[in-house]
Amino acid sequence: MRKLSIRDLKLAEKRVFMRVDFNVPISNGKIRDDMRILQTLETLRFGLERGARLVLASHLGRPKGKPNPEFSLRPVAELLSDLLGRPVKFVNDCVGPEAESASLALKPGEVLLLENVRFHPEEEKNGEEFGKQLAKLCDGLYVNDAFGTAHRAHASVVAITKFVDQAAAGLLMERELKFLGDALERPVRPFVAVLGGAKISDKIEVVENLMKVADSMLIGGAMAYTFLKAKGMPVGASRVEEDKVELAGRLLDEARKRKFRLFLPVDHAVAPSLEQAAQMRVVEMDATPVGWVGLDIGPKTVAIFSDEIARARTVVWNGPMGVFEVEPFSWGTIAVARSLAAVTSTGVTSIVGGGDSMAALRKSGLVDRITHVSTGGGASLEFLAGRQLPGVIALTDKAGH
Ligand code: AMP
Repeated sequence: MRKLSIRDLKLAEKRVFMRVDFNVPISNGKIRDDMRILQTLETLRFGLERGARLVLASHLGRPKGKPNPEFSLRPVAELLSDLLGRPVKFVNDCVGPEAESASLALKPGEVLLLENVRFHPEEEKNGEEFGKQLAKLCDGLYVNDAFGTAHRAHASVVAITKFVDQAAAGLLMERELKFLGDALERPVRPFVAVLGGAKISDKIEVVENLMKVADSMLIGGAMAYTFLKAKGMPVGASRVEEDKVELAGRLLDEARKRKFRLFLPVDHAVAPSLEQAAQMRVVEMDATPVGWVGLDIGPKTVAIFSDEIARARTVVWNGPMGVFEVEPFSWGTIAVARSLAAVTSTGVTSIVGGGDSMAALRKSGLVDRITHVSTGGGASLEFLAGRQLPGVIALTDKAGH
């Protein structure tokens, strides 16, 4: 990696400002899903074992720049204390005298969690002065382990790094950058990209970039219909982004010219509407009934996609193949997840990004059978689109880079 890692820092006795992603669902003061907290524990323990004094900061939800108890991180402090087996102190503000004196009072191996950084409007504006105030809480050492926020130029991600001596990636961030970076820069080939989900507009740059670096691409989910329409296929009342049909057509032309292996669904599960799932039928794409909606890929498509995945040595997957939240339309997504798990067990590197693909993996109990499940939906998409993430650029370069 070209950026400093937490492994490169001299942590003993130092106050270290650690930007983590504790943006977890909370209702009635209870944490409903602790996965994001669990994922960063390794980095926290790494620091604590080396005698660091940890100052943790995160955002939670969208409190729109004002304090709001509904978005307080306090419940996280309690859970974190159980998970780490040591007290976690909490302060009601992420900057100011209370936070400063609490950070100074920390002893090596102790932890302080700051209140939601988004209680200040300067956070999302990447305010310099605010970044400077955050930096006052550490002894020149900053660690970013919040990959899911790395695509945002916010103060606790970017501005703060100007006021510290060293800004390094945490272990989770490091792993994300390694897997996604290797896939794009030096994939073991063949490299197969699998894309799905609702909106092609979100993923057009990902399609363009992956067409340059991958060896083949499988497109399912609603976004496939914009491409199918561009090909002149009947798509019934399936979700199409009319203003992207022309662009989809151009990408298909380019793929054809370059003999790039781009696969679209050949059959699908259709119904008169999502609410009328009981009338579901599986039809070939060219037999799509007028007015019916495509809600999942069909068995022939799954067979084609699975064959292609079975040939891969690297697979990247983002986005479900159908409306996987509603039965029976999770079938295609779960079938693709199984193909990924199967090929992974033969030593292939599989990378899954995006909240929906991860939800589908969890639903099918396959999370542990994937090489790397990215914690950042938006961030992993921007990475795959070939963009540099502001939160990564802001980290200190390793000597020699
Ligand atoms: P995205 O956020 O772009 O990854 O899209 C995820 C959403 O796409 C999920 O909520 C799916 O229900 C939805 N989706 C996938 N396939 C279809 C489809 N054929 N028709 C409508 N929505 C779909």
